[in-house]
Amino acid sequence: MRVFTASLATETDTFSPMVTGEEAFRTSFYAGPGAFGDEPRLFAGPLLAARKRGAAGNWQVVEGTCAFAQSAGTVTRRAYELFRDEILGQLRDAMPVDMVVLGLHGAMVADGYDDCEGDLLARVRAIVGPGVPIGAELDPHCHLTETMTRSADVLVCFKESPHTDFLERGEELVDLIADCARGKIRPVMSVYDCRMIQFMPTVDEPMRSFVDKIKRLEGRGGVLSISIVHGYTLGDVADLGTKIVVVTDNDRAGGDRLAEVLGRELYAMRDRLFPESASMDQALDQALSLLEGPGTGPVVIADRADNAGGGAPSDSTYFIERVITRGIDGVAVGPVWDPIAVKQCFAAGEGGVFALRFGGKMGPTSGRPVDARVRVRRCVRDAKQTFVKARDDLGDAASVELLDHGGLAVALISTRTQALGRDLFSGLGIEPERRRIVIVKSFTHFNAAFRPIARATLYTGGPGPLTLDVRQVPYTKLARPLWPLVEDPFAR
Ligand SMILES: [Zn+2]
Repeated sequence: MRVFTASLATETDTFSPMVTGEEAFRTSFYAGPGAFGDEPRLFAGPLLAARKRGAAGNWQVVEGTCAFAQSAGTVTRRAYELFRDEILGQLRDAMPVDMVVLGLHGAMVADGYDDCEGDLLARVRAIVGPGVPIGAELDPHCHLTETMTRSADVLVCFKESPHTDFLERGEELVDLIADCARGKIRPVMSVYDCRMIQFMPTVDEPMRSFVDKIKRLEGRGGVLSISIVHGYTLGDVADLGTKIVVVTDNDRAGGDRLAEVLGRELYAMRDRLFPESASMDQALDQALSLLEGPGTGPVVIADRADNAGGGAPSDSTYFIERVITRGIDGVAVGPVWDPIAVKQCFAAGEGGVFALRFGGKMGPTSGRPVDARVRVRRCVRDAKQTFVKARDDLGDAASVELLDHGGLAVALISTRTQALGRDLFSGLGIEPERRRIVIVKSFTHFNAAFRPIARATLYTGGPGPLTLDVRQVPYTKLARPLWPLVEDPFAR
């Protein structure tokens, strides 16, 4: 068996002012052909699975380029075409192959391409022809298009959000595509459009039970795989929205029926899928009262409106200002993306005390910069944090304590990313377990590492650059009615 694999991924917030060019990919993650190391990465699930299965089964695995960019604004045409054509050229050189497995995100929008993954998959199909199976692993925050389902044989989304299952789903995809290449199965994909757009973290009910239920349905009655496409709210594209994908072994009618049953069930739960967001003051009040009660560990508050994983700068200062104004002590905040402040900390050195200005730089939604007398606690070159088994780059990073504000500790980073692992803080000498309140800039991915130590987890929705109320998003390209933009999207 000869296998081609590659990855190209980013999640495009089409409303973000931050341009995603070639440099954004090279800074976030880039590995040329055969240069991908051993450290797992979120969008390299198929590559790692192909390696693993290939070693056991004597496959020839041709590893193409892997390139990911942190979520931000529209990708430049030049950057998309550069990486796309690089991968397609590698595939042409690798021909003939028996199967192709790709790690994609599914919500990449480039200048001139609203559906980058559809474009890429269609071009892959044109190269390999109709007989070679093509599979892709996707982030559930993708825009599923007809071009994607027509061009690929199997699409598998991460089931979990936080996406802790990227390695398992990658193996599932590679196994299905390999079975297809051997003629053991004939996958067909059925899609049901739920006509809704909603956030659906899977750590909370009712999503937790729904995901567990679809897992139990897989592998029975000809059902090969079930994915929930959550959709990504900040992509202004025609195909935005929640969908169910059922892959069956050549049972179109059965797959269509099951996709519709599951899709209707999800739609019926639509207004219960997303935990209510508190205001900053409500969350701080609730945290202080929880700290008086039973339990151990910090109260963890998610600043969801400044989540770099959703395309935000991660440098807003609203929460820090509230904590300072209210005089709350024992608080840690991170990550704040401010490469210049990090450089200042390195210049001052560990233990250095000086007046630092940080945060609030990227735009009006970042708030005002904070000016404070700080002590540099730790400076780390090329720092990392951990997400499941994957390492995530923080760039050069530093921690500071605000001396006049109850020891408020802030984790400053140079490579923009969201809070994923506790080592975001502990790697910088801040022990999150010993803080009273930990404020993380993240939407739900922080839950994987922080929920186990949290006395309670609270969600806030701004102010900040990302709006959680989709009714406020100025969409221009939606091609069909979606709840909650309309009350009943199925009304004729
Ligand atoms: Zn996602």
